[in-house]
Parts: sequence; structure tokens; C-alpha cells
Amino acid sequence: MPVYEFKCENCESIFEVTCLIKERNEPRACPECSSENTERVISLCSFVLKGDGWPGKNLKVRSQMQAKNRRLDSKKRDMKGDGMIPQLAPNVGGERTDSWDEAKKLAASKGKDTSSYEPYVQKEKKTE
Ligand SMILES: [Zn+2]
Repeated sequence: MPVYEFKCENCESIFEVTCLIKERNEPRACPECSSENTERVISLCSFVLKGDGWPGKNLKVRSQMQAKNRRLDSKKRDMKGDGMIPQLAPNVGGERTDSWDEAKKLAASKGKDTSSYEPYVQKEKKTE
């Protein structure tokens, strides 16, 4: 069952109510002051965090996301095929090396600033 957030107009406390969708607009008494002057508030945050109580919807969203990702993946592949995404090869000023780690060392031996090589070296280590 979905969780709805209500706000008490009397004491301003926020409380949550788990109820059927069709019951969401029924007045709820405030647990703090028992006032029935409460209003349902739309909270995106609680919707996302507690979305697990709504598996049907989550599954739908997830499959939509997966479909979207698949489309993006194939798009990326297409772009690579067209040479749209240049694959940056390890090099120092155009001189090719076997790895970014070597490129960094080579750059260092030439007295170059190696900080720009660092992200690539880190990436390399991660994929190893
Ligand atoms: Zn109250």
C-alpha cells in the first residue's frame, strides 16, 4: 500500500498514513493533537523512498529505464562505429605508450606535468 504524508493545519506536524489509494483523500486525524484539520501533502521524497511498497509501478519504471539504457547503448555503439567518440590512446605528446601508467611515467621523465594523466591512470586501474 502506498504511504501518504499528511500535514496538520493545527499543530503543523507531518505524519504518514498507509492506506488504500481510494482512501487517500479521506480526512485523517492528527496523531499529535487529534485535530482533523489535516491535509495530504505531496512528497516526492517519500514517494521515492517508500516506492518499494508499490512494486508494480517500480517494475514498470525500471523496465522503462532499462529500455532507455538499451537504446542509449546502441546509440553509443553506432557513434563509436562512426568514429564519433574518439578512443583516446595512451600517449605523451603524440608518443604512444602501452598504458596510461607508462604515459604518466614518460611524461614525468620529460619533466612534464603528470596531473592530467592521473584520471586516465585511475580509470585504467579500475578496469583492471
Ligand atoms: Zn496536529
